[in-house]
Amino acid sequence: MKVLIAEDSPVSRHVLEATVKKWDYEVVSAHDGDQALEILSHADAPRLVILDWMMPGRSGIEVCREIRKLVDQPYRYVILLTSRTQKEDFIEGMNAGADDYVSKPFDQKELQVRLRAGRRIVELQDELLRARESLRRQATHDSLTGLKNRGMIFDLLSTEMSRCEREGGRCGVVMMDLDRFKNINDTYGHACGDTVLRETARRLSESVRPYDAVGRYGGEEFLVILPGCDAETSANQAERLRRVLAETPVVHGGHAIAITASFGVTEWRSGHLPEALVNTADEALYKAKHAGRNRVEFLLPTVETVHEVPIGFVP
Ligand code: GH3
Ligand code: MG
Ligand code: MG
Ligand code: MG
Repeated sequence: MKVLIAEDSPVSRHVLEATVKKWDYEVVSAHDGDQALEILSHADAPRLVILDWMMPGRSGIEVCREIRKLVDQPYRYVILLTSRTQKEDFIEGMNAGADDYVSKPFDQKELQVRLRAGRRIVELQDELLRARESLRRQATHDSLTGLKNRGMIFDLLSTEMSRCEREGGRCGVVMMDLDRFKNINDTYGHACGDTVLRETARRLSESVRPYDAVGRYGGEEFLVILPGCDAETSANQAERLRRVLAETPVVHGGHAIAITASFGVTEWRSGHLPEALVNTADEALYKAKHAGRNRVEFLLPTVETVHEVPIGFVP
């Protein structure tokens, strides 16, 4: 773990550096408060900070206050190091946002254990952030395919609709369903079905533009959002996706399994809620299934579907 040492006296700085290195920390040094702040403005800056109080330019206390103002940065654990040992000084230091306080001349053992306490806090925070990120991912992504899950893709659709409503513009919505997927499960087993779902997800993700979104809407149903596309462009995109799936069989357990999918396409129209668009795309998909599968159909939202907007909705 990296430690930033900010100390203006070269002698004290060198002693501190040598001492802290001995405990297996990587040391970054600053000779005044301004340099310390500059170093700390970078995302990969040390998380443990030993700050001398009295320094030219910004003092340790001022640096401390600035550190606490930095948002969107991981927590920095700050130990103030100073010869000011009055209780009032201690209170002022802690009020400025320091986590701990060591008086000069410092006792090696004491600094070592205080640094270790700081390291524990930093590691705990990292663990917490990782757990939060993992929970967030579990809540928003489908574990089998890694795609956005139903809730997430629906939220994205809502956001995109609001943006269209506010700024104008176009957005295509594509609902896709694998054809006769149950047969694949029944013939080759559930694990093979899972492989087909994963491979389908991979091909869809790789075939859309970076600003499009693909989600797993249900078992073998996928929703694709195409910002900037009208129904016709979206239908062309869907046709491209259809070919990407149908042209190459999925290989599992030595079998080459031919897959196809049906697509229902619609486009955003002012006044529509995301639910209405998904329903319209679903109706188009139903048409594609009935017309023989492995095809793309599109339907435009109508005045009948716009009434699905709740009363009082202001676009
Ligand atoms: P259609 O062409 O009309 O869409 O026919 P289909 O067989 O694809 O549709 P159906 O709704 O009859 O069957 C869908 C199947 O998808 C049934 C369900 O067991 C399977 N399925 C849903 N989720 C998963 C999954 O995560 N893994 C696997 N292997 N199968 C799944
Ligand atoms: Mg000093
Ligand atoms: Mg199906
Ligand atoms: Mg289905």
